[in-house]
Amino acid sequence: MRNKPLTIGSTVIQPGERLTLGLPTPELYSYASLHIPVHIIHGKKAGPTLLICAAIHGDEMNGTAIIHRLLNLGLLKGMHGTLIAIPVMNVFGLTTLTRNLPDRRDLDVSFPGSEEGSFAARLAHYLNQEILSLATHCIDIHSGEPYQHRIPQIHTNLKNPELKALAHSFQPPVILHTESKRGLLWQNQKESPIHTLIYDAGEPLRLDEACIRIGFRGILRVMRQLNMLSLTEKHTANYPPTWVRNSEWVRSPGSGLCQLYKKLGVYVKERDTLATVYDPFGTSRSFKITSPTNGIILAHNTLPLVNEGDPILQVAQTEETTHSESWQEHGLE
Ligand SMILES: [Zn+2]
Repeated sequence: MRNKPLTIGSTVIQPGERLTLGLPTPELYSYASLHIPVHIIHGKKAGPTLLICAAIHGDEMNGTAIIHRLLNLGLLKGMHGTLIAIPVMNVFGLTTLTRNLPDRRDLDVSFPGSEEGSFAARLAHYLNQEILSLATHCIDIHSGEPYQHRIPQIHTNLKNPELKALAHSFQPPVILHTESKRGLLWQNQKESPIHTLIYDAGEPLRLDEACIRIGFRGILRVMRQLNMLSLTEKHTANYPPTWVRNSEWVRSPGSGLCQLYKKLGVYVKERDTLATVYDPFGTSRSFKITSPTNGIILAHNTLPLVNEGDPILQVAQTEETTHSESWQEHGLE
């Protein structure tokens, strides 16, 4: 079936057309005008409308690199449906290397926003009206939080069978169940919610090739699952994902220099030593950090100086597995 014309603002995009729009952001006191570039590839044939967005936190750049790769893919010419790709949602944050907006608010938790609200709420409202309302599916790409390194992972509500199938088709090293209502699109008040996967990988202010490659390949597999692309078997991952229902952050019992002993994705047993925190000024005072459960390391702190109570490592309760341990090779086939 032939696709129908798509309207964004005053622009009408015909089936088979590809273009880039610059969406204006709310005005800054400097009068510097900023735009959010949005790429639209509107297939000739009808299908889902997939929104892929990155850098909603302006310092998280792995997703921006993934979208760059995706947009240069010749395969998209024969695509069914529509791809809307936003390499940088938070252009303010990108230019200042910061996570949040100029009003210090987090755009990710500002949806659906409001016309009369804060700077962040107005931007969220505008994006909601112009872009989010068009999407049937979304992949929202993140890169951990400041001073955290995360194993590439998909978060979604696994109680929804379609989302579960999409998460599985992505084939990341780890899939986590979440019913959180925080974050982009889950706060969107539409009658038919957008089917959303969160891909979270690596750390802010750093490009990580394994995270980028896994994300890029995963998106292609999701597009195949949605019948937007036809792909060959070579795009199948070498390893099945590890499914996670529960995880917890292990916090530091004391302050000092933190030495980690475990890498991302490794399997640990309950009471294994994960890290030691010792006195930077040379006394013999030190604290041992042990695993609360059998499981794998999902994320860890990257800052060697920690205070009492800081999160140090995130451990997911799982059965013994070596699949997530070899995550660096995931997507490198
Ligand atoms: Zn983020």
